[in-house]
Amino acid sequence: MGDSTQFVIAGNWKMNGMLEESLSFVDNLTENPAPNAVEMAIMPPYTLLHSLSKPLAEKGVVLGAQSMYFEKSGAFTGSISPLMLRDAGCHYVILGHSERRDIMHEGNALLRKKLDAAWENGLEPMFCIGEHLEEREAGTTNEVLKNQLSVLAGTDVSLPLTVAYEPVWAIGTGKTASPEQVSETHAFVHQELARLGRKCRVLYGGSVNAGNAESLMACEGVDGALVGGASLKADSFMEIVAAAARVAA
Ligand code: PEP
Repeated sequence: MGDSTQFVIAGNWKMNGMLEESLSFVDNLTENPAPNAVEMAIMPPYTLLHSLSKPLAEKGVVLGAQSMYFEKSGAFTGSISPLMLRDAGCHYVILGHSERRDIMHEGNALLRKKLDAAWENGLEPMFCIGEHLEEREAGTTNEVLKNQLSVLAGTDVSLPLTVAYEPVWAIGTGKTASPEQVSETHAFVHQELARLGRKCRVLYGGSVNAGNAESLMACEGVDGALVGGASLKADSFMEIVAAAARVAA
């Protein structure tokens, strides 16, 4: 797990998935073609974490959650804690997804508390960053990413972290960043992480699918993909894993 593999292909199911269909999804997963080079991870909704934990592990798939609150337990109606995610078998937790930033108004201060809580409880954050279309068009992408990454300043660099660069305009839109935009932005993100004392995997996310995965994974500085829509079906998820395996070979 973690940095031992070249790529991670992570499926973010968002608010999708019922018990029966998700168990069939796991049944339909084929064998990872390159387990030493590609790690597979699935982030289902909270309601499925316990039920999918064992079946996914048996298929060599790492479990993650899509968000969490930062407290361990207590009077926080409707929230879920890092301890509960560990108890359900999670390794990863997505933090800072643009849907949480934009719809639930999660900002840097809250995200820092969540990052610290994830680490304190043995979870690996999959920390999402990304610019809106207006910001890219205004030429402020790097400034936006730098601000989002500034949350990591002063954190213990030995703690596990995966970053996902997801241009907001590419999420769920069918538009992907061009290979030039991806390579250029990933270079900036790696450089900024190095300035903060970190060396970690940086995934690309935003309308990754079976048809474009290979060219995106081949871009300089890309260490995997965070996949939304195309991770809901076992065959398209496995095709993306296979594309990463071809690039790794
Ligand atoms: C995501 O939710 O992180 C995502 C990248 O979604 P999609 O692949 O559907 O664009």
